[in-house]
Amino acid sequence: MRGDVRKIIHVDMDAFFASVEELDNPAIRGKAVIVCGGLTGRGVVSSAAYEARKFGAKSAMPVFRARKLCPHGIFLEGRMERYIEVSLQLMRILKDFTPLVEPVSVDEAFLDVTEVASARPKDGGFPTSGGLPPKDFAGAEEVGRQIKRRIKEEMDLTASVGVATNKFLAKVASGMKKPDGFMVITEEEKERVLKDLPVSEILGVGRVMEKALQEMGIHTIGQLWPVSLAELVERFGKFGSSLYYLSRGIDDTPVVTEWEPKSVGRSSTFERDIKDLRVIRRQLYDLTEDVVRQLKEMDLRAKTITIKVRYSNFQTITRSITIGTPADLLSTVWHHADILLREKVELKERAVRLVGVSLSNLVQAPAVEQLHLFEEGAGLEEASTEDSKR
Ligand SMILES: [Mg+2]
Repeated sequence: MRGDVRKIIHVDMDAFFASVEELDNPAIRGKAVIVCGGLTGRGVVSSAAYEARKFGAKSAMPVFRARKLCPHGIFLEGRMERYIEVSLQLMRILKDFTPLVEPVSVDEAFLDVTEVASARPKDGGFPTSGGLPPKDFAGAEEVGRQIKRRIKEEMDLTASVGVATNKFLAKVASGMKKPDGFMVITEEEKERVLKDLPVSEILGVGRVMEKALQEMGIHTIGQLWPVSLAELVERFGKFGSSLYYLSRGIDDTPVVTEWEPKSVGRSSTFERDIKDLRVIRRQLYDLTEDVVRQLKEMDLRAKTITIKVRYSNFQTITRSITIGTPADLLSTVWHHADILLREKVELKERAVRLVGVSLSNLVQAPAVEQLHLFEEGAGLEEASTEDSKR
């Protein structure tokens, strides 16, 4: 890393679920689209288009209340699989700029572009518009603008982008000019920008904390500055120190590139207990196909393959093999799973109630092959089916 100033970008899609619905159905574009977790009873709004926000509808609001505020709204039930599909498209675009991408949620991510935004084009780094070596934030700004442009061009959606020296400030920046916003907060500007923002802008300040601070007469971030670190720690424990530093725009938390699951797995219960090996094998094959796809989507490879068999009397056994070279090929994984089933499981005359397969001991797939995988446009709708706990 050059110098000690990082360059962090926060990307946040605008009214993501509602925007995806508008994307998929041009007839409702620009209307007061309100996506809900459920349309009846205790349903809650999960995303409101800006046209609906004008009338006060917003996320986390009960649907009945949103209907009162915005009776002309177009209320839709959320389609999580579709949003995940679009989300993966977003993450692929982001990973084109740097491998240092930390997804925060389906529509939000941090990027650490310190390195890519410093490199000169001739070094194979990020090309800048003028062909000049970018100084200070110019490179990072350019990356931020290109991210916005590509999201618009390739996804026909808008994102708000913030550029700053750390994650907290980048997130504040992306939130300041929504929707379709772009904002840079430099080290020199940070105190001026933070000063009058409500304390609830600080990561981790929820309603309870906000109230406690208000009782101290603290409503804005700037009002925290006169309070000493010792006093904040005394009042709020460990979080007091976060308050102290974040209020000053200081945040050392790194961009964490991969959320790494310990295993991926799937199992399924037969409608009735099965003795026929062919049926059991077929089911295990289908499950293996699913988990391998999931493994590839996460750019991971597995060293340990485990199968699970539950007999009709609920006795459950697992059989594992650990292989020398981490695998992400269906043929390899299935080869081992099949051997485990046929050679290590006693099936004769015993009815089987459930089979499952899981992959563990996961390692990162090499980067070159990740790109290759992306080009293939692997079907991604399985991303939500992880059920390794089952
Ligand atoms: Mg968003």
